[in-house]
Amino acid sequence: IEKESDRNKDKPNISFDDVAGLEEIKEELQETIDFINNSFKYKKMGAKIPKGILFHGPPGTGKTLLAKAVAGETNSNFLYASGSEFVEKYVGVGAKRVRTLFEKAKKDSPSIIFIDEIDAIGTKRNLESNNEKDQTLNQLLVELDGFNTDDTVIVIGATNRLDLLDEALLRPGRFDRHIYIGNPNTSAREKILEVHTNNKPLDKSIDIKDLAKKTTGLSGAQLANIANEAAIIAVRNNKKLISVLEFEAAIERVIAGLKIKNPTIL
Ligand code: ATP
Repeated sequence: IEKESDRNKDKPNISFDDVAGLEEIKEELQETIDFINNSFKYKKMGAKIPKGILFHGPPGTGKTLLAKAVAGETNSNFLYASGSEFVEKYVGVGAKRVRTLFEKAKKDSPSIIFIDEIDAIGTKRNLESNNEKDQTLNQLLVELDGFNTDDTVIVIGATNRLDLLDEALLRPGRFDRHIYIGNPNTSAREKILEVHTNNKPLDKSIDIKDLAKKTTGLSGAQLANIANEAAIIAVRNNKKLISVLEFEAAIERVIAGLKIKNPTIL
């Protein structure tokens, strides 16, 4: 007998409430959510549901999280694939993997297919070559054109480099909606820090607004990392509550880590 937990294993328990500071983008995605939740209305009206959305922007800004939240908001299956996996791990079978992915999505529809790092397969093709990457990209184009609107399948691609993508991928009917997700501003950082601290015991010394001001230039992923580091430092210091001291140490640690990796930033 299939267990409830197994049946729901590809359905993320993530909603728009978990995605902080991207209000306008969530607003924009409401249309897609409505397409999925009321697909029959659109079909009856003879309208084609747009199938491809591209999230682009710097790393760690919540692209994956947002795609999962779209699945969560629509009770859709979430199928994750990474562009680099197609061409690195599965040499010779990238195209087959793409085909299988779409088959599964159609079978379990409504589905969201999320292709992270789509630039790994989606960069401009070389007309003469027939290499692994280009074969995989060609198959992806075939799949995007092939599935009809009876299948409620939305494909979300994510990239840091929109400029590198093959134009064929961006044509109408393919990834024709582009949503830029940038690093959070001060008020967005405040909201992200709130989401990542609301399950943590904080003492009164903590002023989230102030922490948001001290973290200019950091991404959502880095802010989540800071909140977690602060909790770890508090445990190590035998504290019952996390104080501003732990947060400051965590901010320093995360920023120092970034400086080691890339001495030119911050
Ligand atoms: P990459 O381009 O590196 O794949 P990404 O844009 O897909 O990054 P995510 O993987 O979605 O970024 O973000 C990593 C983690 O950072 C999330 O799981 C979440 O914990 C946190 N995070 C990032 N952005 C937000 C946000 N806007 N609200 C809440 N949490 C966020």
